[in-house]
Amino acid sequence: PEDVTTLDEVSKLNEIIDGKKFDLKHPFFDKISLFYGDITKIQVDAIVNAANDRLGGGGGVDGAIHRAAGHNQLQAECRKHTRPVPTGEAVVTDACKLSTHVKKIIHCVGPICYGGVTDEKRKKLESCYRRAIQLSEENDLRSIAFCCISTGIYGYDNKDAARTVLRFLWRHFNKEENVEKWDRIVLCLFMDVDKQCYKQYIKELLLDP
Ligand code: ADP
Repeated sequence: PEDVTTLDEVSKLNEIIDGKKFDLKHPFFDKISLFYGDITKIQVDAIVNAANDRLGGGGGVDGAIHRAAGHNQLQAECRKHTRPVPTGEAVVTDACKLSTHVKKIIHCVGPICYGGVTDEKRKKLESCYRRAIQLSEENDLRSIAFCCISTGIYGYDNKDAARTVLRFLWRHFNKEENVEKWDRIVLCLFMDVDKQCYKQYIKELLLDP
């Protein structure tokens, strides 16, 4: 489709961060991209949905994905899975009407987080990203776009989420055997606050890995 962004059009971190003191040859920077906009408009093997445990569709990114994929079709796919899906877990479905440019949708159930982030919530958030990566690898998916799981309706602090996610990805993709399975990991940032948090934390990570 015409309004879809391809991976060739999205810069990698090593192309957008300047500064000679940074070791941008690290494989991490060659695989990770930031994308600003609607996750249904990017061409990747897998997009990650921030689903609820019933996989019933909802507001936010979940609503956008259900609309774009075709609500009834995607619901039929979701019903093939055992529900409720535990927090921190993920399931894979067909991309339905999004299959023009997406192979699979990975539905992650992030932690509901009012009244502050705890270590337990942080682990659940990290678990969503870990499971999405595992499921992609099992399904031969080589590129993925993550939305900012839990930071909308579920109330997870944006700064803490950016830090938790980037730190996890940094650790995971430090290893050559993990990185070589992938073409691209896209972090889809929809809100200005997330753009700011991610940019700030990428700088912190670069200075103090
Ligand atoms: P949760 O219930 O897990 O908090 P939300 O959908 O409320 O899920 O929010 C998760 C993140 O997805 C938020 O950062 C929100 O701004 C973002 N978001 C909303 N719509 C879209 C979209 N179409 N594409 C990408 N991200 C989106």
